[in-house]
Amino acid sequence: MTKCIFLDRDGVLVKSVLRNGQLDAPFNLAEFEIVKDAPDAVTNFKKLGYLCIVISNQPGISLGQISQTEVELMNQKLLAQLLLDDIYICPHSHLENCECQKPKIGLFLKAIQRWEIDPKISFMIGDRDTDIQAAKKVGCRSILITGGDDSGLTEPDFYATSLTEAVLVVAQNS
Ligand SMILES: [Zn+2]
Repeated sequence: MTKCIFLDRDGVLVKSVLRNGQLDAPFNLAEFEIVKDAPDAVTNFKKLGYLCIVISNQPGISLGQISQTEVELMNQKLLAQLLLDDIYICPHSHLENCECQKPKIGLFLKAIQRWEIDPKISFMIGDRDTDIQAAKKVGCRSILITGGDDSGLTEPDFYATSLTEAVLVVAQNS
């Protein structure tokens, strides 16, 4: 069994885009910007012996705002610049009631099975309440990156103001 850092994408590894006063996903590669300290943070998680796996809701795919091609290009860019092991994307809108949109844990269960992950020694890093809720259901520890839209309705195990700070939290609790 191995340990894993589950990473939310937008607002954690990639900058959220301000659209109509709300933080949103980038819709295309032109809006896609990797957070400055993300490459080093992922490298440090790997050095600490963790798999690094992205779990991201992208309802814009189902809603026709993001094309499958753009998502593939974004995934390629992430894999080229960050030492990630895998990327799991939920393409559905909330209307579809799928099993994979966070806070549901369908994508986590897939990753856990595929990579033989032990949730108890793993972490989820996210900026939204849905990430923290999912972590609790999965049974891993959670780190909330502050500054997201959600006010932290669910108490995370740890807070961090940046990915660099999240690395310290993980290092101190490994
Ligand atoms: Zn889904």
